[in-house]
Amino acid sequence: MSRSLEESVNGYFDRAAALCDCPRGLLEQIRACNGVHAFQFPVRHADGRIEVVRAWRAEHSHHKLPTKGGIRYSAAVDESEVRALAALMTYKCAVVDVPFGGAKGAVQVDPHRRSVEELERITRRYVYELSQRNLIGPGIDVPAPDAGTGEREMAWVADTYTALHPEQLDALACVTGKPVTLGGVRGRKEATGQGLVYALAEVCAQADDMKALGLGVGLDGKRVVVQGIGNVGYHAARFCRERGARVIAFAVPEGAIADPRGLDEDAVVEHRTRTGSILGFPGATSMPRSRDGLELDCDVLVPAALENQLTAENAPAVRARIVLEGANGPTTPEADEILRAKGTLVIPDIYANAGGVVVSYFEWLKNLSHVRFGRLERRHRAASDLKLLHAVERATGHAFSEAERAVLADGPDERRIVNSGLEETMAAAYHEVRDTLRARPALNDLRTAAFYLAIQKVARAYLERGIFP
Ligand code: NAD
Repeated sequence: MSRSLEESVNGYFDRAAALCDCPRGLLEQIRACNGVHAFQFPVRHADGRIEVVRAWRAEHSHHKLPTKGGIRYSAAVDESEVRALAALMTYKCAVVDVPFGGAKGAVQVDPHRRSVEELERITRRYVYELSQRNLIGPGIDVPAPDAGTGEREMAWVADTYTALHPEQLDALACVTGKPVTLGGVRGRKEATGQGLVYALAEVCAQADDMKALGLGVGLDGKRVVVQGIGNVGYHAARFCRERGARVIAFAVPEGAIADPRGLDEDAVVEHRTRTGSILGFPGATSMPRSRDGLELDCDVLVPAALENQLTAENAPAVRARIVLEGANGPTTPEADEILRAKGTLVIPDIYANAGGVVVSYFEWLKNLSHVRFGRLERRHRAASDLKLLHAVERATGHAFSEAERAVLADGPDERRIVNSGLEETMAAAYHEVRDTLRARPALNDLRTAAFYLAIQKVARAYLERGIFP
């Protein structure tokens, strides 16, 4: 029988919790979903029809505030899935040291079957319902995009919230993943994919780990298969290619395409938009069964679509040496066990796809400070760097060219600051998880080590605050 995502997440939690020396009651508190709010609201459509829409917001942990987590639009979403995704957010934020509790929201609609006007009405009403229940606000609970939503929906969220709370100076910090023109931060849209590739680069830089997997060090030439070509899959593919890896296949619901010479993600998206299907992409082999893509011979498999994609049925056929979890919960515990037994290195979701929430944290900080990163210091830093270049020129007799000067004394800008903060966070968190595993071999794998680390950090936050009087 297939497990729910919630059972999988709790199973992973229990495996790590068994090795923690925290009080039992505290572990139960960390595991429990602190609050789940279900509501239904009417939406009037252009033709006068009234539809009742189901929606949720789950706040898994209030050990740090605000709580934070995306909003998912999907016809198949249910309350248990929202609770599970909120729990993953708590553990994810803890692993990468982002000071938020975990949350998640969902609206039970298929965004691909709705007009833009309908989606806008639904989004604005959802925000009104959240606001009425005190479930949104810069210091309360801060949503972001997830599957089925993006910048456009976050702009509607920000606009509705600011209209409802015109007196709040920090109102734009009520949601992240906004367009840059509406208080968003440069680099947020691509952050989850970018974070995945920073994580992969760090994983592939460990010479002894790569040797054990029979792979070379570094990303260059690595053969990558990506499932999903939405926000996460598209950007993961793009940054893999830019770092010298070859994306040899994409798998989406209608099938998979493969080309050992490497695929260009923009050309694939253009073909899919024009023809309505990924199949038939020029020069590639088309496979009508999507799951065939997951079983191709490759170095890295990036499931970046949805949960429960690697299961007891297909895990034995997975040939990738590394599974980099872009989606939340793509691997069932049974598949995880099979992959571990085969020696596959699984980079778990609660670390690997944390780039989105890391850069959301930066966006929230930007909104609270009301100033673009780099704005105050850019000119000053460029002038200081130029003085340094002149000193080097005088001391060495070497004259820098105009082009060299432009690069060396450019000063920081927002995108570079955000990306360097993300890269540093992903690299540091990987070493913390890997060192935890090395120090406690009983943890067995990176996922259990990441859960163990997250539990320890959340437990410490509770105990230090002394919230059990
Ligand atoms: P999205 O809606 O932009 O894209 C989803 C992609 O998956 C689409 O290309 C779709 O065609 C594909 N897909 C759907 N069902 C599939 C199936 N059965 N087989 C193969 N492909 C399928 O969503 P997204 O924002 O890219 O999110 C994808 C996953 O990443 C989700 O699990 C989400 O929770 C997780 N995630 C997203 C973010 C973010 O910042 N957007 C951050 C962290 C984690």
